[in-house]
Amino acid sequence: MIADQAPPDLVAARGRLRELFGYDDFRGHQADVVARVLAGRSTLAVMPTGAGKSLTYQLPATMMAGTCVVVSPLIALMHDQLRSARANGIRAATLTSQDSDWRETQDAFRRAELDLLYVAPERASQPAFRDFLSAAPLCLFAVDEAHCVSEWGHDFRPDYRQLRPLMDAFAGVPRLALTATADARTREDVRAQLGIPADGMVLAGFDRPNIRYTLHHRDNPVRQISDLMRAAPGAGIVYVPTRRKAEELAVKLEQATGRVVRPYHAGLEPETRAANQSAFVSSEDMVVVATVAFGMGIDKPDVRFVAHAGVPKSIESYYQETGRAGRDGDPAQAVMLWGAGDFAQARQRLSEVPEDRRGGERARLDALAALVETPGCRRAVLLRHFGEDPPQKCGNCDNCLEAPGVIDATETARKLLSAVFRTGQSFGMGHLQKVLTGAEDDRVRQRGHDRLSVFGIVDGEEARLLQPLARVLQARGALIANEHGGLALGGDARAILKGEAPVVIAVPPKQGKGRRRSDSAPNPVGDPLFDALRELRRELAIEAQVPPYVVFHDATLREMAATRPSSLTELGRIAGVGTRKLEAYGDRFLTVIRQH
Ligand code: ADP
Ligand code: ZN
Repeated sequence: MIADQAPPDLVAARGRLRELFGYDDFRGHQADVVARVLAGRSTLAVMPTGAGKSLTYQLPATMMAGTCVVVSPLIALMHDQLRSARANGIRAATLTSQDSDWRETQDAFRRAELDLLYVAPERASQPAFRDFLSAAPLCLFAVDEAHCVSEWGHDFRPDYRQLRPLMDAFAGVPRLALTATADARTREDVRAQLGIPADGMVLAGFDRPNIRYTLHHRDNPVRQISDLMRAAPGAGIVYVPTRRKAEELAVKLEQATGRVVRPYHAGLEPETRAANQSAFVSSEDMVVVATVAFGMGIDKPDVRFVAHAGVPKSIESYYQETGRAGRDGDPAQAVMLWGAGDFAQARQRLSEVPEDRRGGERARLDALAALVETPGCRRAVLLRHFGEDPPQKCGNCDNCLEAPGVIDATETARKLLSAVFRTGQSFGMGHLQKVLTGAEDDRVRQRGHDRLSVFGIVDGEEARLLQPLARVLQARGALIANEHGGLALGGDARAILKGEAPVVIAVPPKQGKGRRRSDSAPNPVGDPLFDALRELRRELAIEAQVPPYVVFHDATLREMAATRPSSLTELGRIAGVGTRKLEAYGDRFLTVIRQH
């Protein structure tokens, strides 16, 4: 066993892991980080969402003498963490403007009775806070969302710059910086800004293997998302580009599915917004239709799907937004519904972008276009974008699961572009299709388009390619739509016309494909014991005023239903059942198991 060779601290840590969290072993790079922290070595941990970053300081904090100061940028996040930590029996507190128990917290800290003390960066940087911290021993500074310290990161927060002087004032206390999103340049900067040695980086991959990526042309978003909601019965987020769409789609999805669906956007009354968000966090199956204003500061682990009803801003934001699905490690879905119009609009907006930023913005769009167009593995495209070298196939994306046929459509593309050119670059696809297929049509005749060389040069089978081809050409910018849908040539259209640039497209899926039932909900359907366990979890969550996942994750309930433990000892062996939760809830769960 590895445990025999591990340093003693890590052996003790495994025991603690079982006792506090009910997990048998560390996941991924957690053990590396915990070992470094226990050895007092400062560390920058870059681990994807859902990897279990919080455990890497929560656990050592309970094993080392002194309090761990956790710097976290959002009050909502801190309170989430606080609830989960306390539910596991960890002595934690927050000092925020929303807390009324400041005195108790300060007293507990001074008496060295706190494992974790959460504060916001703006408080941490105040001199008074430094004096306060001197009153009791510290074991660790944990800096969450550490990319906020870097101007290269996507979320720079000046207050993070004040953390260095604070930590320098406690020279002997090790530092642990954590982030899920940092490219190479940001990582180096974070390390330098926070004073973490060059050998102090633990870098896990970006991959989120439990998320299944599906990208599909948007033909009927209400039907497509209702289908997804049926296949993924848990909580979900649907991202839309505008407030109006958030309102409209929420109503339509609620009507179509009978599920609770709420909008979320910056235009709602603050109370409504807060109410919708907290209802979502506490729910097992609510769906929120939101603008990108939603998501920061929510680390609900049991989000089963994230859908995009339009093309996101960039691959970075796509990855961050879809990353909110499946933090608990259970299967989850990321579905993007894209339209050629999304790309057309985005490319039109390029002209409003200042000259010096235009190239970068165009590259962003090209990267997104490559993702939606690829007939290959979606995950591979995503991971390569983040500088990794992934396998060719992941086995858990739409294209890996059902490989689309691939066709060299260069000739058809040349015919289409040529028709666009010869008709004067102002007609939409409907008209162009009629011209290309040689349709008997008054408008075509009136314009004299039946006399063009491109009239009737596309036959039946090939005609099926025209629509998907037009989408692909718009996504890559070779066709540009005006506000009336009229198409003009752009991008590499000329190179395609000259036969210098090939156009390879995925064969359009047959109707009905993609409706396959998904396995994004591994929860047993119609198992009375599992349902009863969930019911009990709901009751306990309401009693304790916490979201159900704080009581137990679905995976823990599934294991209970499958193994039917009959004693506290057996129950305590299930993953996710630590000592504290066993004591608090064990008897009630055993009773339910006995009754079924
Ligand atoms: P992150 O902050 O990296 O996004 P979290 O700290 O929120 O991730 O953890 C994600 C989920 O993984 C949590 O629900 C946590 O309980 C679970 N988890 C963490 N470590 C382990 C482990 N070693 N074994 C099983 N589950 C774990
Ligand atoms: Zn794949």
